Amino acid sequence: MDSHARIVIVGGGIMGAGLLYHLCEAGCSDVMLIEKGELTSGSTWHAAGQCPSLVGNYNLAKIHHHGNTLYPRLEELTGQYVSWHASGGIRIARTQDDLDWFRFMRGIARNVGFRMQIIGPDEIRKINPFVNTDGVLAGAWTLDDGHADPAGLCNAMARGAKNMGATVVRHNRVTDIQALPSGEWEVTTEKGTVIAEMVVNAAGCFARRVAQMVGADLPISNMEHHYIVTGPVAEFMDRDEEIPVIRDPHASAYIRQEQQSGLIGIYEHVGMTQAWAPRGFPNWDSDSELFPDDLDRLMPWLGRAMERMPILEKAGIKRIVNGAIAHSADGPPMLGPVAGLRNFWMCCGSSFGIAQGAGCGKYLAQWMLYGDAEINMTGFDPRRFGVYADESYMQAKGFQDYGMTYATPLPGEELPAGRPSRTSPLYEKLCERGGVHTETFGWERPKWFSLDGREEAFSFRRNNVFEVVRDECLAVRERVGLLDLSGFAKYDISGPDAHSFLDRLCANAMPGRTGGIVLAHILSEQGRIQAEMTVTRLTDNRYYALSAAAAEMRDLDHLVQGKLAGENVTIKNVSDDRGVLVLAGPRSRKLLSKLTDARLDNAAFPWLNGKEITVAGISLRALRVNYVGELGWELHPPMDAVEELYDALWRAGEEFGIANFGLYAVNSLRIEKAYRGWGAELTNEVSLLDADMERFIKFDKGGFVGREATLRQKNEGLAMKLVYFDIDSLDSDVRGSEPIFDGETCIGVTTSGGYGHFVQKSLGFGYVDPQHAEPGTCFDVELLGERRVATVLHQPIHDPANQRLKA
Ligand SMILES: Cc1cc2nc3c(=O)[nH]c(=O)nc-3n(C[C@H](O)[C@H](O)[C@H](O)COP(=O)(O)OP(=O)(O)OC[C@H]3O[C@@H](n4cnc5c(N)ncnc54)[C@H](O)[C@@H]3O)c2cc1C
Repeated sequence: MDSHARIVIVGGGIMGAGLLYHLCEAGCSDVMLIEKGELTSGSTWHAAGQCPSLVGNYNLAKIHHHGNTLYPRLEELTGQYVSWHASGGIRIARTQDDLDWFRFMRGIARNVGFRMQIIGPDEIRKINPFVNTDGVLAGAWTLDDGHADPAGLCNAMARGAKNMGATVVRHNRVTDIQALPSGEWEVTTEKGTVIAEMVVNAAGCFARRVAQMVGADLPISNMEHHYIVTGPVAEFMDRDEEIPVIRDPHASAYIRQEQQSGLIGIYEHVGMTQAWAPRGFPNWDSDSELFPDDLDRLMPWLGRAMERMPILEKAGIKRIVNGAIAHSADGPPMLGPVAGLRNFWMCCGSSFGIAQGAGCGKYLAQWMLYGDAEINMTGFDPRRFGVYADESYMQAKGFQDYGMTYATPLPGEELPAGRPSRTSPLYEKLCERGGVHTETFGWERPKWFSLDGREEAFSFRRNNVFEVVRDECLAVRERVGLLDLSGFAKYDISGPDAHSFLDRLCANAMPGRTGGIVLAHILSEQGRIQAEMTVTRLTDNRYYALSAAAAEMRDLDHLVQGKLAGENVTIKNVSDDRGVLVLAGPRSRKLLSKLTDARLDNAAFPWLNGKEITVAGISLRALRVNYVGELGWELHPPMDAVEELYDALWRAGEEFGIANFGLYAVNSLRIEKAYRGWGAELTNEVSLLDADMERFIKFDKGGFVGREATLRQKNEGLAMKLVYFDIDSLDSDVRGSEPIFDGETCIGVTTSGGYGHFVQKSLGFGYVDPQHAEPGTCFDVELLGERRVATVLHQPIHDPANQRLKA
């Protein structure tokens, strides 16, 4: 075995092989994959091999689509038999919500590039005459997917990589991984030691054990999953054509033809599922392992599946497979760096690894080799979880995710498992006041307030909280609103080099005077957006940076790893130390002045300024800035003083008509101000120029990371541009991922949207080709299957001159 490789991949399942292949394709063949058994001997060999196109997430759909485009060609490319069956699939809709989801997904299909049709029960039966369509409203027919032999796919990608120069070492367990002073990794194996620049954990259900070798944790749960194979089915024998894979949420099942037999896989619901090895601790000697079957817990679901395809009932059960499957807490795989480590990557946590192996490999390889992937990786980054994701959290979430595999994902739906995990001191009080919370990076954050006890009827369309959110928005625009945003990520950055460090790392210039606040972006060397922060200069050498709650670990890495040797800067994550209350609205100054002696007038405390002041006897950081576009202050007290501050603000605010508001209202208010959102408009796919945010770049301040690439792009011109638009929608608003059309040509994709309650318009953002970006341009956005006309706006629809912010 060689003693050096640029990259070592631990694990030879479909995820490791998919990455190996794509690293080689991208030009890096100095890669060694090390597998403790045979390739595929973890979860991969026993999988059912389906590769669906239909997944409820735009970026994940791109990952699946890559597999479905590559797998049919893989045999020709590598010479390895993969047994690709281009069967297509039909997913069943029984409710209007299912149907709306199909309409939303058809838009995604259009942009991603796979064929999908929504068909009625008659057509379903024409395509698959054996389906019982009782209770069926429609089917989502996807034509470009299928299933394959998982071992064939894995071996083919490994063989293709070997042909391109990669090394595969089998029957060799990685026993330890240590960081060297050189920054490289020393990978100890049963057959010797390898020094590598980068290491990737692709160890499937063993991934948590491998992560622990480098002192990291990995929030995945290993679940059991069954499928059964029936005896031969007479009706299949008489046909040349294979039936499409049927996916039925009611049965929580996939049903397909396996040669002349039937195959049914069941995702039994929460409460009936067994964890195989909770928190990912299978024995190292577990190899090609299957578990005893447990038909009893499958029976209710199997019964429903047989009702859907009655011809399978009489065929009897010939074989039962019960194998291990890893689930992340939120469903998508773990692709990206490990928090706090350089050059240690995750490529695991995939519960649809056969479908995802190729796509995960493609986009992770781009990230590893070029610093960015061409798709938005935010939702796959392992740093989307923090230390709060402990054993009980993960187990609860893993069970939930497993049971929800075939549930229709409804916008806004709050799932209960593992909650609450991180709460501000106000959590109970806000719940008592009707607060409905949503979870971000473990934090419970208020979403809306149910003042009359109503519960949200989740839907793709405007629902019964529409007017409630409108009232919250109007309270902020006309009176004063209060919001607990204690989940913000917060960092204290100090030291003699703090200013020059931040100036070098961010595209914007750091504030020149004490108290100044700027919006700053960290870019990659390619000029793509990595992070967005609000930075306040507290004193000459002390800065306070805020970023999205979900970015706490990522942005900490950007800051810490952005430091050069010799730079005298200290970075402290103070996210848990300080809370945040947002006080916003035209009456906020009057209210706040009742609780502080500090001067709040424009001369003493202008917009985009921060100071340490005392409010209601509590010493805190007050920043005159907000994301809702009104006069107001963000108040950052010590976390343990948040409740006392809230009570004081509420008492003083009653005479001003104070109201609680939540994140639904924030979305409406921010979109009226055309404020971009990190993770939606601002992602690793785009530059600040693409996002029409050149005013946040200071080219003339000297060097900053990403400057050369941004300048190059400025000279060469843009391939796409962010537009802000209003749209003549009827009963639904833009959510992001909808296709944008000029006639029949798809010219772009939306990134986010919502209803602006104050301006009474439906609004959105999207990326289009630059010739459609001129203000006044009209195009169509497909909203739940309907084309609606959108018009590009040239400025924020609300308060374009920032008069309210500066009031
Ligand atoms: C019954 C069943 C049916 C399924 N059907 C489908 C399906 O139809 N479609 C689909 O997309 N997915 C399906 N899946 C899920 C799919 O099997 C997994 O998502 C996928 O196989 C995961 O691949 P992986 O590479 O992450 O893990 P694995 O295949 O488990 O690979 C990890 C490898 O790492 C090796 N390893 C671990 N530790 C070390 C170490 N220290 N040193 C060296 N090597 C190590 C292991 O031996 C193993 O080979 C199914 C799962 C089950 C259980």
